[in-house]
Amino acid sequence: MKIIETIKEMREFVTEAQRQGQSIGLVPTMGSLHEGHLTLMQRAKQVCDIVVTSIFINPTQFGPNEDFAKYPRDLTGDSKKAASVGVEVIFHPQAAEMYPEGYSSFIEVEGITGKLCGLSRPGHFRGVATVVNKLFNIVQPNMAFFGQKDAQQVLVLQRMVADLNMNITLEVVPIVREADGLAMSSRNAFLSAEERRAALVLSRSLKLAEELVAQGEDNALKIRSQVMAEIQAEELADCEYVEVYNYPLLQGITAITGKALLALAVRIGKTRLIDNTILEVK
Ligand code: AMP
Repeated sequence: MKIIETIKEMREFVTEAQRQGQSIGLVPTMGSLHEGHLTLMQRAKQVCDIVVTSIFINPTQFGPNEDFAKYPRDLTGDSKKAASVGVEVIFHPQAAEMYPEGYSSFIEVEGITGKLCGLSRPGHFRGVATVVNKLFNIVQPNMAFFGQKDAQQVLVLQRMVADLNMNITLEVVPIVREADGLAMSSRNAFLSAEERRAALVLSRSLKLAEELVAQGEDNALKIRSQVMAEIQAEELADCEYVEVYNYPLLQGITAITGKALLALAVRIGKTRLIDNTILEVK
């Protein structure tokens, strides 16, 4: 497995792969790899000849008071993990390689970025759409793989690819969870033992909503308030948002018909965690 740090070298690798008629799958990440990331890479490996994973903690998607500086970094561990699932290349550029002096171009996806994480993290999706667009231009993948863990991110990127006529197939991989339900996340490493236990409130409250729907509840407001009550009952949890929107348009609803996204962002101590589930009323 190669670790490539420059855009020039990445382009040379891509040109050679394309010359040999090989398809390229891209898995963009910010590193500190866990089973969720590895599942994306394994899926990419099944359907593409060559898998490139990018490890880049993208400064433009972090707000000024967010955890960019302390975001976990572990290139040595990540290299071993990526190699173990057959990744051919880790693309690991420095920030100055991606955003040299004078950099001034950004991608704005309007509409669906104005809610959920887009509301609480202004500029976040502008940074995400921009860096993913840049990675697409550099790596020129046939396919790119993203996790449903970041449900809104997936919708934003699908919108970008469709609107800008990008010739890339996006594939979405279901949320990978720990045995006790906690959605895997690089940020879980920040949790103390007590916070780790408290963090179970996210998946537990999603389960509660799924059970309500299974029992015939379709009132989005009732589901939302029961989920909020469950979260508020956890002392270490501070709820940032709980929303139920129709899916995939993300419009506000009072009753669920068809599919709805239940998405939440919760702070456990200083760590912000997100999770979601698709509710379905048939
Ligand atoms: P990140 O490194 O957090 O930016 O994540 C990189 C990619 O991995 C994104 O497409 C995420 O949605 C995906 N991902 C992160 N955690 C999980 C998970 N628990 N299950 C599935 N995909 C995940």
